[in-house]
Amino acid sequence: MQINNFIEGKFVPPLDGNYLDNYNPATGTITSRIANSTRKDVELAVQAAQNSRHYWADLPRHERVDWLRKIARALESRKDEIASIESMDTGKPINLAQRVDAARSISNFEFFADHTENLPDLEFKMADATNYVIRKPIGIVGLITPWNLPLYLLTWKIAPALVMGNTIVAKPSELTPLTANLLCEVLVSIKFPPGVINIVHGLGPGAGQAILEHPDIKAISFTGGTSTGKIVAKTAAPMFKKLSLELGGKNATIILDDADLPSAAQGAARAAFTNSGQVCLCGSRILVDTKIYDEFMSLFINEVAAMKVGNPTEQDTDIGSVISLEHMEKVLSYIELAKQEGGKIVSGGKRLNLPEPNSNGAFIAPTVVTKLSIDSRCATEEIFGPVASVHQFTGDDEAVKMANKTEYGLAGSIWTSDLTRGRSVAKRVESGILWVNTWLHRDLRTPFGGLKNSGVGREGGDWSLDFFSDLTNICVKED
Ligand code: NAD
Repeated sequence: MQINNFIEGKFVPPLDGNYLDNYNPATGTITSRIANSTRKDVELAVQAAQNSRHYWADLPRHERVDWLRKIARALESRKDEIASIESMDTGKPINLAQRVDAARSISNFEFFADHTENLPDLEFKMADATNYVIRKPIGIVGLITPWNLPLYLLTWKIAPALVMGNTIVAKPSELTPLTANLLCEVLVSIKFPPGVINIVHGLGPGAGQAILEHPDIKAISFTGGTSTGKIVAKTAAPMFKKLSLELGGKNATIILDDADLPSAAQGAARAAFTNSGQVCLCGSRILVDTKIYDEFMSLFINEVAAMKVGNPTEQDTDIGSVISLEHMEKVLSYIELAKQEGGKIVSGGKRLNLPEPNSNGAFIAPTVVTKLSIDSRCATEEIFGPVASVHQFTGDDEAVKMANKTEYGLAGSIWTSDLTRGRSVAKRVESGILWVNTWLHRDLRTPFGGLKNSGVGREGGDWSLDFFSDLTNICVKED
């Protein structure tokens, strides 16, 4: 299978004719070859986006809303295929791909259609004048996304960018191009206007960098690692492009001494190991009050032991492979480092050799490390794999201090039977998204994004609409 670029409504090969191999990480087999695009391909995509820019911006918003709904319906009719392709491309369990990836890719379009259908006009009255705030399309926007939630994160950007009247040049991760390609097939099937959405495949330093540098692309919405985010900012900020950066995390799960321990243990295990720990929001540092540490640990280890690591195509698999053999080596090297840093592996700690067809897959047992210092590299750097460290604290002040001992500030969860106490601890944790007694419970109207090195800006609800538009204030003097 060959994955080509999608430009001006057509599938087109890369101009240089170069392709990259794309692997199923759970089997080690090559599933497709994807366009290894260059600056020249990005130029074609920008031209297409430029050609359709005025047509799309001038459509009444209710017609753009109708298009979002058409895309959602067409994706819905292929949702099983989305889940199985996403599972094959990422190695994630099929049930996770069904519940999370496929479902959210569809609901991103439905949500932004509903959210903007009756968007109120913003007006600020003065004694002698009225300010009318209008949201204008920016023009062409560049969207760059990672491999952990491929179509979910791509559509999270495409839907608001479209509905606000922009045209798009997007680059999905080179490791997971398949569902972006399926989206393009869907666009063809519903006769979506050509040139409004253009997808260029390829590597970050090639196609990705060309998107960042293109002078006609006026805004960049990037989700990925913090070190790549620095390159994005360094390139795009001096060009005064609008920037949204959704970056890495090293999130804390805080178990207070009054927590309902069975549900906290279940929540902590889910937060640590969903998608093999490859969700930016994963709770990879578990902070537990000394008073309840032993009881919590025995429940938590039982939860982890009950997780089935296995063939991602089987419905009862909880944990699939990590994204690649290369990433597996990186995660295993952190497990070795944890040992050198004085950590004790109390669960997992190794690669798993599974039977055929997964004998060459990149599987790692969910790994729990204790006795690490909160300042250690393993407890402060983003591993982005199935590895969680557990640390003890005494009292809420120390919990907050430990939670904040990282350069990241994306998310966290607090487990307690006192909701007021939970909110008060949450307020003191330096993160953009905090949950009390739950994890990854999302309302798409709320702001999503990180503090510190976890990013700049917010997405979600009105924040996405503001990002994907140029706000203009018209002040009319009335007497
Ligand atoms: P990555 O930074 O390696 O790649 C992300 C995207 O950027 C890919 O499409 C890649 O090709 C592209 N890219 C790489 N170099 C580039 C360059 N020089 N110019 C332009 N584009 C370039 O990240 P990844 O490994 O794909 O994803 C994992 C990371 O993403 C983790 O750090 C995770 O925390 C983060 N993430 C954050 C969020 C969030 O919402 N905050 C969500 C998901 C993942």
